[in-house]
Amino acid sequence: MIEDRGRSGDIMAERRQLFAEMRAQELDSIRLSTYRTASKLRFVQKKCNLHLVDIWNVIEAFRENGLNTMDLNTEFTVARLEAILSTIFYQLNKRMPTTHQINVEQSISLLLNFLLAAYDPEGLGKMSVFVVKMTLATICGGKILDKLRYIFSQISDPGGIMVYSQFDQFLREVLKLPMTVFEGPSFGYTEQATRTCFAQQKKVSLNTFLDTMMSDPPPQCLVWLPLMHRLANVENVFHPVECSYCHSESIMGFRYRCQQCHNYQLCQDCFWRGHASGSHSNQHQMKEYTSWKSPAKKLSNALSKSLSCASSREPLHPMFPDMPEKPLNLAHIVPPRPMNSTNDFMLSHSMPTSGNPYSTKKQSGQAGGYRVRTGKGQQPGGTRKI
Ligand SMILES: [Zn+2]
Ligand SMILES: [Zn+2]
Repeated sequence: MIEDRGRSGDIMAERRQLFAEMRAQELDSIRLSTYRTASKLRFVQKKCNLHLVDIWNVIEAFRENGLNTMDLNTEFTVARLEAILSTIFYQLNKRMPTTHQINVEQSISLLLNFLLAAYDPEGLGKMSVFVVKMTLATICGGKILDKLRYIFSQISDPGGIMVYSQFDQFLREVLKLPMTVFEGPSFGYTEQATRTCFAQQKKVSLNTFLDTMMSDPPPQCLVWLPLMHRLANVENVFHPVECSYCHSESIMGFRYRCQQCHNYQLCQDCFWRGHASGSHSNQHQMKEYTSWKSPAKKLSNALSKSLSCASSREPLHPMFPDMPEKPLNLAHIVPPRPMNSTNDFMLSHSMPTSGNPYSTKKQSGQAGGYRVRTGKGQQPGGTRKI
């Protein structure tokens, strides 16, 4: 009993620590709720080292712990959840260079506490397979397209059509993430949420699902999710221009340019907090930039564009066949290669395989953090209007 009390005391202390550190970032002073929510969840993700883990790594951990064969409604204990998180982070350290090893115990503990705060506020010590799958798939790193495909595979029928009630359940659970970082008023679950995502469509296939989720703008209740990925993509983007408000010599991350004032540019910290100086007002329309081009490069780009007839705009996602291939039953097949590099095997186990452009690529090791990001990844064009 005393031990139990000691342990729950530790849990509370660690939970407080995570939220205290989040508060210290002063993210609450971000005026736009979407950016505020995405920044908070990105903070939690990085603090727990989940930004170094992609959906393939998560699926691998689910498989190692037998979740792929369990009914989605199965409930399991905190100890079981801890085991899954252990697999995720111990495997992560195996992929990390010896110079960049993470603190596994701390990552497990922080993430476990965050999940318990979100999904078990009453301390019943139980969580369903569905909750664990959807939550980890939503807050892990990697590519949003891969994450959404996995999520769809869990909420669709064998014919590849989304089950509305499952999607509703997904929203109900996943919107607890913004709620846990105190953004419930902006992004809490409502009965109308599902209908606002898919208004008229009767049958939602994978392509329709991806079109909707990756559209610009995305559904209002989930707008923080693609933004979290965009934040990650621009985090290391350097703009050699001065912020017109705080006068820092250069800008990292997003850069904003006023559409009315001549050469008025803000760093993300200043723009998100509504700072304005001189004749500029925070009511002016701003354009968001995720990359920087020198004036010389801009000119050469403009020239090459004017010479080319073909549209260079890429689709948001590859097209997938409407009818998924049945997942192969590979239970009795000995994989041809060692298990630690068999993401293809894992993929065909858990997701429709046909038309998958990634099935021949090795996915592990793609988790963020150690790649130089260009910020050109997800949004064609690299700019957007706010
Ligand atoms: Zn600034
Ligand atoms: Zn202005």
